[in-house]
Amino acid sequence: MNTLLPTSTAGSLPKPTWLAQPETLWSPWKLHGDALLEGKQDALCLALHEQSSAGIDIVSDGEQTRQHFVTTFIEHLSGVDFENRQTVRIRDRYDASVPTVVGTVARRKPVFVDDARFLRAQTRQPIKWALPGPMTMIDTLYDSHYKSREKLAWEFAVLLNQEARELEAAGVDIIQFDEPAFNVFFDEVNDWGIATLERALEGLKCETAVHICYGYGIKANTDWKKTLGAEWRQYEKAFPKLQQSSIDIVSLECQNSRVPMDLIELIRGKKVMVGAIDVATHAIETPEAVADTLRKALAFVDADKLYPCTNCGMAPLPRSVAQGKLRALTAGAAIVRQELSGAEGQ
Ligand code: ZN
Repeated sequence: MNTLLPTSTAGSLPKPTWLAQPETLWSPWKLHGDALLEGKQDALCLALHEQSSAGIDIVSDGEQTRQHFVTTFIEHLSGVDFENRQTVRIRDRYDASVPTVVGTVARRKPVFVDDARFLRAQTRQPIKWALPGPMTMIDTLYDSHYKSREKLAWEFAVLLNQEARELEAAGVDIIQFDEPAFNVFFDEVNDWGIATLERALEGLKCETAVHICYGYGIKANTDWKKTLGAEWRQYEKAFPKLQQSSIDIVSLECQNSRVPMDLIELIRGKKVMVGAIDVATHAIETPEAVADTLRKALAFVDADKLYPCTNCGMAPLPRSVAQGKLRALTAGAAIVRQELSGAEGQ
């Protein structure tokens, strides 16, 4: 990226009301068959337009073609039975009915590659594509086959790598793996979580990112955050090993979070997507509030490695709120960009 402080989002944006019920996770599609395919592509174009017109530099599909950031990928794999559902505790936080792994998992065909190719054809801007990370995938399933979280994570890493290589070939500039589970299972992160993530990005020449956050602004997450105390030091557990890893970019939650900014020092050398938009509130940040967060992060990230971003996906927000937040992000980044280029000229 030649732009200083290039802006992007964590991934998802609200869907239009004609495609799916807004402000709902796992919202069922309102269209079917060919109409659904066309509707998803139209929604993708709208999401792209909303990002471009707000001035976002690195654009995405807004996750318009998937129902959920983890489940949709899993739905396309064999070895997983979606009829046979079990209730599990997700990220040690809330119970959900999830599908069951009943046999060897395999990726029979590409999952998002056609969608990525479609997005690539619509824009010349750099594009980022999000995939779930191996550890977050296994945490959203019941496993009656491998009976080992680690073993299943390695299997998923291989399948994710197949998908990632094809996304790269389709012209994706940054492939991002979403690993909110990295903020919960610290021993596993260090034992095999980061290693399986590196397996998922093996051989890629495009840039790679890992998004680690405190989740969407849903009640289970905001309740959990209330239990975390005055300082959120979860990142501290994974950062030393991530700093040593081959991942290029780390995407973090910083706006209105109680994460001490100096933790970012632990990943010095990596590019950092600094979350400067809170997705857990409908209040739209002022550009100055965004700028303030970015300035604080600049103490621990070199300016050429700082990528202003959102804390997490915006799928559950009203569309007008998400649009306002995109504009606040670019306006806040512009303030700091101006300050940096002014300082350079002195
Ligand atoms: Zn997130």
